[in-house]
Amino acid sequence: MTVAGEGPLATLPFRLLINGEWREAESGATFAVVNPANGTVLGYVPDAGVAETRLAIAAAVAAQPGWAATPAGERAALLRRVAGLMLERQQELATIMTLEQGKPLAEARGEIAYAASFLSWFAGEAERIYGMTIPASTNAKRIMVLRQPVGVVAMITPWNFPSAMITRKLGPALAAGCTVIAKPAEQTPLSALALGQLFTEAGAPPGVVNIITCQNPRPFADTIFADTRVRKISFTGSTEVGKELMRRSADTLKRVSLELGGNAPFIVFADADLDAAVRGAIASKFRNAGQTCVCANRIFVQRPIYAEFAERFAAEVARLTVGDGLQPGVNIGPLIDEQARRKVERHVHDALTAGARVVVGGGPAPLGGNFWLPTVLLDARSDMLVAREETFGPVAPLIPFDDEAEVIRMANDTPYGLAAYAFTRDVGRVWRLAEGLEYGIIGINDPIPSTAQAPFGGVKQSGIGREGGPTGIDEYLDIKYVSIGI
Ligand code: NAD
Repeated sequence: MTVAGEGPLATLPFRLLINGEWREAESGATFAVVNPANGTVLGYVPDAGVAETRLAIAAAVAAQPGWAATPAGERAALLRRVAGLMLERQQELATIMTLEQGKPLAEARGEIAYAASFLSWFAGEAERIYGMTIPASTNAKRIMVLRQPVGVVAMITPWNFPSAMITRKLGPALAAGCTVIAKPAEQTPLSALALGQLFTEAGAPPGVVNIITCQNPRPFADTIFADTRVRKISFTGSTEVGKELMRRSADTLKRVSLELGGNAPFIVFADADLDAAVRGAIASKFRNAGQTCVCANRIFVQRPIYAEFAERFAAEVARLTVGDGLQPGVNIGPLIDEQARRKVERHVHDALTAGARVVVGGGPAPLGGNFWLPTVLLDARSDMLVAREETFGPVAPLIPFDDEAEVIRMANDTPYGLAAYAFTRDVGRVWRLAEGLEYGIIGINDPIPSTAQAPFGGVKQSGIGREGGPTGIDEYLDIKYVSIGI
């Protein structure tokens, strides 16, 4: 069954956005977008390849000088208009997101507001692209520093946050004066097309925002990498693909921003406010069914409170409701696809074989499809798959620890370094954790620290660059110094 004609999908253009026009792929090829909650085909979008990517690059190249020359206040106004439209249509956009991605509608609404906040924040930054003057070594010269747009930027984004992962890049890129070719994940192209629709409605000049949908990302990537006019790649997704993109960028030396996988430790000390820690662990672990790059992957609990924390946490987890994200009261939607479910299955099986115990969940939900029961594993250890790799599912392994130095060592014992969390009331320890945890984002007594005002990003193999915050726009600006003899 196809449902493209119904509800908020009825007015959505199932086409590519190139140079301000909605177009089919030249070959006429399309691919299906499927609702992960029930397998229904939501519609078919163009399966673009080399020809369409070339057209999009040409459009972005042609539009870039004009966009860069557009006064900052006008660039800001466009971003503010789109942010306003997103909030006006929050319910509609959230419904599209839940249909294609599966997350509960309340979370999808939250994501739309979060996504819009990046456009508003960077609208402000567009008007604050300050340069510098520098005292020269001789009075016969003056030195000044300009900050100018990088140029044409290609963006590749994942399916887990189909709207926010795009606006986190579009906001700073457009604010800086760059033009964009965005390629959303093949699982979730509709939220991206809905955004494209808002940009055209808000009056974005042709070619400033181009959106390419394709099932196989390779022809798109090949075309982008071969073209010296594309000056930057901004990618959010898996570490494996991020590494490949970085290697491939070397040939034309494109600038690269990478937001990659994580393996977040969530540390609960014996002195923590236990209610807040339980609530925090639930929020961090189970939103988006655990399919979040910053979500708690390893929950370390200090031994004196291990049993009590486990009992209270398990009781709360047992109350979570699994189901179709459009149904009221649902907390956990489906996993994105069968491959994701198999990974969760493999991790849980490995943990049980190695001696962990299930106290809640532990298997597929009786709804069938890719639903997985929220799961709590006791007596987990750092050497289990569930702790070494990003599970990307609703599985919470509880690992006991004895002291602070030991848990900092265990927390850092991973190639990843995106987000880390700790619950404690000891002020000295807060500083030691903030300084000692090798992560780009630290939440102390705060399970959801992400906000447009702060620099989001990872260290080690979790990425390069920061999105959001006062430095976020730097990723899309080149620095030029001008030395003037007077
Ligand atoms: P993925 O790397 O498979 O796909 C992400 C995007 O890359 C998709 O658009 C996909 O089409 C494209 N892609 C895949 N192979 C490609 C190739 N060879 N060349 C060019 N493009 C290619 O990742 P995923 O499974 O869709 O997303 C989940 C991952 O994303 C997780 O590891 C998660 O932690 C990470 N993530 C990170 C952040 C962050 O901000 N650090 C945010 C969200 C997700």
